[in-house]
Amino acid sequence: MEADFSKSPKPAGRAGGKTKRFPSMNKNKGKREKAMKQEGYLAGVDLGATTIKAGILNEKLELIGKARTLTPAGKGGEALTAALWQTVLLACRQAGVSEKLLTSVGVGCPGSVDQKSGRLLHACNLSLIDDDFSGRLEGLCQRPVYLENDGNCALLGEWKKGAAAGFSQAVMLTLGTGIGGGILVDGKLYRGFNGFGGEVGHMVVQADGPLCSCGRRGCFEVYASASGLIRMTRQAMKEDRDSLMWKLCGGDLLKADGTTPFLGLQQKDEAARRTVTLFLKYLAVGVTNIINLFQPEALVIGGGVGRQGEALLGPLRRLVAEQVYSRYGGAQTNILSSALGDDAGIIGAGLLGKENGSYEMSVL
Ligand SMILES: [Zn+2]
Repeated sequence: MEADFSKSPKPAGRAGGKTKRFPSMNKNKGKREKAMKQEGYLAGVDLGATTIKAGILNEKLELIGKARTLTPAGKGGEALTAALWQTVLLACRQAGVSEKLLTSVGVGCPGSVDQKSGRLLHACNLSLIDDDFSGRLEGLCQRPVYLENDGNCALLGEWKKGAAAGFSQAVMLTLGTGIGGGILVDGKLYRGFNGFGGEVGHMVVQADGPLCSCGRRGCFEVYASASGLIRMTRQAMKEDRDSLMWKLCGGDLLKADGTTPFLGLQQKDEAARRTVTLFLKYLAVGVTNIINLFQPEALVIGGGVGRQGEALLGPLRRLVAEQVYSRYGGAQTNILSSALGDDAGIIGAGLLGKENGSYEMSVL
């Protein structure tokens, strides 16, 4: 089902106040609108704790160029926004598009966002708290910036162009450095009253488990993110020097990544099987909790680990079916793989700029 953005309500706050911040752009309003109609390009950025991924969408909302750089972690907000804009410029070059034709920059970031002020309230994986992220980036790139939680961006991308299309009740999980989450309830994005809602990665699945970046212990993302899987993989390798996984990463523990245990499993390595089983146990606990709370029609799994497809989803569906509250009858949630893969967050972030940010998800 297609979303009609033009009928969506305007979000409170930011869009109306933007023109004041760009007096030079107002002078050329007519010219700019003409350019937008003819050649308006949208930049979308997936700002991760490890990498910055940027993409350019054309007016048909097709992704026509991408670039990726390393996140300057721990170097502060200024370095982060500078690196982000440089990544957008690289993506423009790759797309063969002048940055002058960009009408907006949408950014998905791992944290909670105040939609009205454009401030990043709390991003523990980026070490930023109550940061004027949008203001600083707008100052740098001289065009409107739209900031949103990364999980919400991935959901927006999948809902508009991917696996969640046509569903009015959907949840998106992005398994990366952390776990990004986006929740669609009755066709509306769920943010909570203060913008901190939907942080599924920080749901505790093991009391007194390992410390999470949020300060609690045993959060879902400590176990079921790509980082969690890598930690489990390296632990299993240390405990079994004969595991085939050593061979798969050239004898270098630091080269073991989220694909290592799945490759080992294919070759019937016992330590790899134990690792994947442990990872799936925690993933299934978190996914079942989310389904019990929201009972979405679709739960879409993306991020690096999501690329494992049926090797991951087949056993996950079986584990969830055994424990979900609704298991005794009625319709069951479809657990699906992301259709857009790594691009979901970029595409969703780019879409934020469409209709000047009035992108509220409503299934019409
Ligand atoms: Zn946490």
